[in-house]
Amino acid sequence: MKCRTIIQLLEELAPPKYAEEWDNPGLLLGRAEKEVHNIMVALDASEDVVEQAVSNHADMLITHHPMIFKPLKKITSQDFIGKKIIKLIQNDVVCYAMHTNFDCAVMAVEAGKRLGLKNMRVLDPVYEEKYYKIAVFVPEDQAEKVRAAMTREGAGFIGNYSDCTFNTEGMGTFLPREGTNPYLGRQGELARVREMKIETIVDEQRKKTVIDAMLKAHPYEEPAYDIYPLVSNGQGAGIGCFGYLSQYVTAENLARRVKEAFHVPYVTYTGKPEDKLASIAICPGSGKSVIGKAAGHADVLITGDMDHHSALDAKEQGLLLMDAGHFGTEHFMAEYVCNYLKKKIAEADFDMQHTVNVFTAEEQPVFQIL
Ligand SMILES: [Zn+2]
Repeated sequence: MKCRTIIQLLEELAPPKYAEEWDNPGLLLGRAEKEVHNIMVALDASEDVVEQAVSNHADMLITHHPMIFKPLKKITSQDFIGKKIIKLIQNDVVCYAMHTNFDCAVMAVEAGKRLGLKNMRVLDPVYEEKYYKIAVFVPEDQAEKVRAAMTREGAGFIGNYSDCTFNTEGMGTFLPREGTNPYLGRQGELARVREMKIETIVDEQRKKTVIDAMLKAHPYEEPAYDIYPLVSNGQGAGIGCFGYLSQYVTAENLARRVKEAFHVPYVTYTGKPEDKLASIAICPGSGKSVIGKAAGHADVLITGDMDHHSALDAKEQGLLLMDAGHFGTEHFMAEYVCNYLKKKIAEADFDMQHTVNVFTAEEQPVFQIL
């Protein structure tokens, strides 16, 4: 299977548009046109993981954290990143990362599901789909054709409903002036025409294609149409999420639940073991940046990489913190992506599932526990 096809599957899961501006996800190294047979998935492209990729004859290494993050001025074996890059290129291993785009699309919601959270919502929206209302005026006998042209290109999607439009009959008037070639009416005469106003909704991405299709299908030389930006945007994607458990849980019991759900050896938390918690925020990885958002919505924030001052400040804002480690809260990503790709490859091409091998690297947290 072509590497490009794998990338398409990954981008369906974690669209690049969800990534934060400062991030560097995507194809970082190698050739997208390469034929891929062995795919390794890992949280980090550490030296050890790169070694495993090479010894397991991986053609492609997919990681969560981008191996190349800051701009590089030189790539030499004197430098620890340079060494990895050289090794991957020498062995023709493509390197691809999905970082904050994966955080927004999958990480927090999946982590919340593991804890059994209900009614989950985004904690810190990064991306919101923009929607527009299109209203177009069409002579009645051509309304069906124009409507179909627009919905075929993706206008009129509301949740799981497609082809959503609203149609009003009315009277249109126009006066064709010199140099015109009107579909209806005559030059110099005021025309009155039974028209249909078709209203529908479209997202930012499909707006241009839908308008082009509408203009192509419309019989008039100068179709009349309006585009209104909508204030009520679509479902947002963002960092972290918060939700509720079906009943109160004590801090101690939640800590046990977190240990079990993420297979971590320990968690640390602020507050008292008997503190009762109902609304739970979770931000796998490093969640310091969402403390302010969580403080208004949740009793506790489960995350990693917490430090003394942040924890103290959060506590005084009424937010308890539970730290299960950066690696601890994110390492399920590798298995998740692995299962996703296996399923998608089998769906795309039944025979491919036997020729494309997807597997996780063996990774350990960087910290040891005494
Ligand atoms: Zn991370």
